[in-house]
Amino acid sequence: ATRATEAEWDGVGRTEDGHPVKVLANVGSPEDARAAAEAGAEGVGLFRTEFCYLGADREPTVQTQRAAYAEVLAPFAGKPVVVRTLDAGADKPLAFLAMGEEPNPALGVRGLRVAFDRPEVLDRQLEAIAGAAADSGAEVSVMAPMVATAEEAAWFAERVRAAGIERAGVMIEVPAAALCAAEILQAVDFVSIGTNDLAQYVFAADRMAGALAELNDPWQPALLRLIGMIGEAGRQVDKSVGVCGEAAADPALAGVLVGLGATSLSMNAGSLHQVGAAVSAHPLTAFQSAAREATAASTPAQGRQSAKP
Ligand code: PEP
Ligand code: MG
Repeated sequence: ATRATEAEWDGVGRTEDGHPVKVLANVGSPEDARAAAEAGAEGVGLFRTEFCYLGADREPTVQTQRAAYAEVLAPFAGKPVVVRTLDAGADKPLAFLAMGEEPNPALGVRGLRVAFDRPEVLDRQLEAIAGAAADSGAEVSVMAPMVATAEEAAWFAERVRAAGIERAGVMIEVPAAALCAAEILQAVDFVSIGTNDLAQYVFAADRMAGALAELNDPWQPALLRLIGMIGEAGRQVDKSVGVCGEAAADPALAGVLVGLGATSLSMNAGSLHQVGAAVSAHPLTAFQSAAREATAASTPAQGRQSAKP
């Protein structure tokens, strides 16, 4: 097989035999967005909107939010951007939402769960996102964090469409959502796998706990098997399955994710070229066999060793 080097990536995400795999950036601020656009991102696969709220002791107005989002979207006029609604709670508590003390914040009222109690906060954010999309000319879709069931996904998609935004998706980062990916994909237009939280919840291992880093290794076969199930569900209904956790930034793992059915990969700007080159170096069938090796491995180390496209 051919081997592209970093310098050889031409900026178009696809396998060697032409299957499109969008190479996208994760951003959380205007600076991130400019850096990602300069680095050649084909769009944004995860825009973390928390930045607009952090440190705010009251909810930013719709106008404030709209202007803040438009600044992030501006470098991506005409390109796809997935805006994630507020992922508050757990490690990102917000004063104005005051959810109270929780014994297990990672298992508590976080992400979309906050919106079930306070849907008007979500609706105001959606109004601001729709406005920012119009201001910037970016092709905006919206997705929710921490979705557990198809019912939650349908509830969210309905509010997104009511706000005049055409494409609604959800993150798959809770194991229950991975297991019900087929039903979730009926309710939404796309899903994006958050491997950081999905690993944390699959292994019952806090993602911030250094001592548990081996369990949170994205090469863990159990995690890869779950990702493969989501990819298969996406193939069956022909809808996009992105990966936007740290796993997507590992050039060796990127091909495995593509082999498992990922149709886009989203990462920090610094990894775009390496990942773009890795994906364009081999045909889809080579990645599919690498994916079989990695999922059949008994350890992450064995997977890394044997999963070569
Ligand atoms: C994830 O959980 O993998 C993810 C991309 O979201 P965050 O890191 O913001 O929780
Ligand atoms: Mg997450």
